[in-house]
Amino acid sequence: MKLIFIQVRDLKKDFKLGKTDINILKGINLDIEQGEMVALLGPSGSGKSTFLNVLGGLVPPTSGEIMIRDYRISDMTENQLCLFRREHLGFIFQSYNLISTMTAMENVALALTFAGVKKEIRKERAIEALEVVGLVERMNHKPSELSGGQQQRVSIARALVNHPEIILADEPTGNLDSKTSEDIMDMISRLNREDNQTFVIVTHDPEAAKYCSKVIHMRDGVIERSVSQ
Ligand code: ADP
Ligand code: MG
Repeated sequence: MKLIFIQVRDLKKDFKLGKTDINILKGINLDIEQGEMVALLGPSGSGKSTFLNVLGGLVPPTSGEIMIRDYRISDMTENQLCLFRREHLGFIFQSYNLISTMTAMENVALALTFAGVKKEIRKERAIEALEVVGLVERMNHKPSELSGGQQQRVSIARALVNHPEIILADEPTGNLDSKTSEDIMDMISRLNREDNQTFVIVTHDPEAAKYCSKVIHMRDGVIERSVSQ
């Protein structure tokens, strides 16, 4: 039997607009198994990014429960969440979010600084992660000297370097052309198969969703349907 890795129960999130509460997530229920690669599809504004951010402990929920393994992350304090994220989660963003003044290697190594890894081994581990994404020969380049696809590969290396069990990706191919998107999704799906990491990937792109074992359709703050493929 597969292990339920992420369990979401009646998750709600409101944002305040002036004096009014706007319900953005309206009661999400979801189970994700270990090693699954899940796509989260849905129209713009349906709450996909909000859901991913709440799932990753970046934004607190208004109510409901999130369990990741046996951690009840919906009850954690900001400090506990910070430690939890560093140890268990990796994030990939559409806009890469690399530091422009640092080289590819330094960007990846920075994630290890935050995780408290000793200086002597940070460089070695960063290079290993850049090898995984096929970018070691560009390790001394700054983001502006890399293509969009290469910058996204650096950001994937940064997400992977601490070997998190779960990687949350928000539109990872959103700024890339279709060929580069395919390369990135090929790479993500190889990592998923080889390391049994669990991926939750927000995407607009039905081609990217084809790589996933489960496709969750969101609309207006709820899960409309969930299809295993
Ligand atoms: P998606 O990623 O599916 O496009 P989002 O989760 O980004 O959707 O946004 C869903 C809705 O929540 C949008 O209407 C957006 O304006 C609103 N929203 C997102 N973040 C905030 C915030 N911090 N404050 C107020 N409203 C927000
Ligand atoms: Mg979004």
